[in-house]
Amino acid sequence: MNVLVINCGSSSLKYQLINSDTEAVLAKGLCERIGIDGRLVYQLAGGEKEITESPMPTHKEAIQMVLDALVNEKTGAVKSLSEIDAVGHRVVHGGEKFASSVVLTPEVLAQIEECNELAPLHNPANLIGIHACQELMPGVPMVGVFDTAFHQTMPKKAYLYGLPYEYYEKYKVRRYGFHGTSHSFVSKRTIEFLGLDKNNSKVIVAHLGNGASISAVLNGECVDTSMGLTPLEGLVMGTRSGDIDPAIMEYIAKKENLDIDGVMNVLNKKSGVEGLSGVSSDFRDLEDAYNEGNQRAIDACEVFAYRVAKYIGSYVAAMNGVDAIAFTAGIGENTQFIREKIVAYLGYLGVTLDKEANKVRGEDKIISTPDSKVTVCVIPTNEELAIARETVALV
Ligand code: ADP
Repeated sequence: MNVLVINCGSSSLKYQLINSDTEAVLAKGLCERIGIDGRLVYQLAGGEKEITESPMPTHKEAIQMVLDALVNEKTGAVKSLSEIDAVGHRVVHGGEKFASSVVLTPEVLAQIEECNELAPLHNPANLIGIHACQELMPGVPMVGVFDTAFHQTMPKKAYLYGLPYEYYEKYKVRRYGFHGTSHSFVSKRTIEFLGLDKNNSKVIVAHLGNGASISAVLNGECVDTSMGLTPLEGLVMGTRSGDIDPAIMEYIAKKENLDIDGVMNVLNKKSGVEGLSGVSSDFRDLEDAYNEGNQRAIDACEVFAYRVAKYIGSYVAAMNGVDAIAFTAGIGENTQFIREKIVAYLGYLGVTLDKEANKVRGEDKIISTPDSKVTVCVIPTNEELAIARETVALV
């Protein structure tokens, strides 16, 4: 079965065509600058990247270009659109309505629309992508896979904020968590890779990318995660602040003469390791600056690693123990010195790092020593494959 996986943003769209039997990626790429001018990047498996500039006033033209590229006589991945059996769509926010993936019916789409308020930058774009695909591929089954779904098993004590209860009742203000597809994929893979008994397992997943979050997975179910109502809460990220004293918002607004949008812009786009270091949000640049002795870059890396270590400690408490800690996403899979810094805080758990094994990049690997009391590993995430698997399971 061939599944087209679509991840639609407000002005961009990432896609992969996956053969679900072999789990091979047949072709992948992205559309950028939708609504501005338009640029298609297309790559057939084993082929070179092809870039085509072409007007994309809306997502419909973008998806049409993707489909044309996929069936192109010379470089296409399939002969005709009839060889695409299903489409899996990433949907950012499923609120409390969706605890698992669903086949996209008109009723489901209406329910997703009701979640728009909770993710105003993401959900409307996801819906536009879904509608465009439905128009261009009538009759092909479509599935929605939610970033929030995996975290719906969190108990009330983990998802309620210490706010007036009526805000939860009236406005659905609670913690939802994000990156759920990745936390689900990586926690399952960790259990499988380490041969743990799922029904008796305690796993912590650290998804450290530009956006970063961490989750506590008890017996295969999420019991806590660091992101909240929005993806701003929790860890210090590339440009996002993560947890702060909420009173800072008023204080900075007055000092810098900012309104609420201005403050939110600072917390989302000008904070995190970029704001701290003044160097970059990218850990490759930060590592260079760190090695050159740039003090602000050093501080940024220390703050980043310390926050991750504190969350790991709190999740050990939440689960009354831990069997395995998995690092994933861009930083988690690639950045040795950050993993080393985080693991250095975990001596109290009996964790010891195997420095040689920690030289790994982007492959499943145990990086703790054989006598370490808790196993630490690198497990690459693959959200597109997870979406394809969910899609196949439903159609
Ligand atoms: P997102 O999907 O949230 O944009 P990623 O998971 O791609 O984020 O992670 C991006 C981060 O991962 C970058 O900031 C970069 O610091 C880090 N990263 C990615 N690839 C590498 C690499 N090869 N070496 C070191 N760091 C990397």
